[in-house]
Amino acid sequence: MCVICRSRFPKSELGRHVAAAGGGTGFVPDPQAAMPGRGHYLCANPECAEKFLKYSGRPRRRRGGQGE
Ligand SMILES: [Zn+2]
Repeated sequence: MCVICRSRFPKSELGRHVAAAGGGTGFVPDPQAAMPGRGHYLCANPECAEKFLKYSGRPRRRRGGQGE
């Protein structure tokens, strides 16, 4: 299942990405599914790829706000 659009695809159509080692700079592609860690699967839709970039950037929250 694609993590962005949540549609189901055959595994051959999904790209695996794992969280980058060392903490929090997004995801790295893992086409051979060789890397440890939790896999995030992304379909071939360019819109999903674009959203995935933001999804990847999520650990860093900069909202410039106070409090929270
Ligand atoms: Zn998708």
